Parts: sequence; C-alpha cells; structure tokens
Amino acid sequence: MVVYNLLCKKNHSFEGWFPSFEDYQKQADKKLISCPACGSTRVEKVPHACAVHVKKEQPAAPAKKPDPAPPSVPSPAEFKEMLIRVHHYIKQNFEDVGSRFAEEAREIHKKQAEERPIHGTATAQEAKELSEEGVPFMALPKPELDS
Ligand SMILES: [Zn+2]
Repeated sequence: MVVYNLLCKKNHSFEGWFPSFEDYQKQADKKLISCPACGSTRVEKVPHACAVHVKKEQPAAPAKKPDPAPPSVPSPAEFKEMLIRVHHYIKQNFEDVGSRFAEEAREIHKKQAEERPIHGTATAQEAKELSEEGVPFMALPKPELDS
C-alpha cells in the first residue's frame, strides 16, 4: 500500500491510497484519479512523501497488522488513527534527516553510515530508485494533524 499526496490543477491537495506505484501510474494514465473537491482529473503527485528506513529486526511498526486474513482496507478513521500512532512513534524514535533521506538510507543500506532509524522526505524518483536498489523503506503520507 502506498500513499501519495496529490494535487489537482486548482491546487486542491488530497491523499490517494494505491496498492502499488504501478497501480497509481495506471490510474493516473487512464485519468481515473479525480480531485474530491472539484472533480478534476488533472492530478499530479506532490513530490514529497515522508519515508522511513526500517530496521529488519525492529518490532513491527503500528502500521503492520498481524492479520493472516486476506488484506482488508481499513476505514479512513482507522487509517487516520494508525497514521497518528506511526507518526508519534517516528518522531520519538527516528532521526530526522530531511531531504537527505534517500542518500542516508542508501548509505545505511550499504553500511557506509551508522545503522539507525531515520525518516525524512524523498521525491517519487528517489523512492523508485531506492526500491529498485532494494533499500528497505516505507512511504508514509505527511500528517496534517500536528497543528
Ligand atoms: Zn480540485
């Protein structure tokens, strides 16, 4: 499951949840994604997602449900609650590396930097490169909750 912050041509921003990047791409190509505010299908991905580098031996983040049943889609309220918990956890336990996320995650992966939990922002391109290189990370929507 990936989450993208999307922006329509009238600058309405909203979140889109997709099974994968490919699904997002397919839906975007077919103009199946429309702005909930104005219905425009001229929608772009905002190139900033919060991403975290996850240590393999780390206890499962709250986002991961130990659910053996077929994946069900949580309700928006459940998602929001989950998100709040994840972001709290990240704030307390992860080092904020900002826009250097992709660089740091890669160095940690190659053991050129100290192994530690980090979070920061990555562009869609960076995220794609990281997953192609097999660097473990997780994309999260940016919270609009800490005001
Ligand atoms: Zn709109």
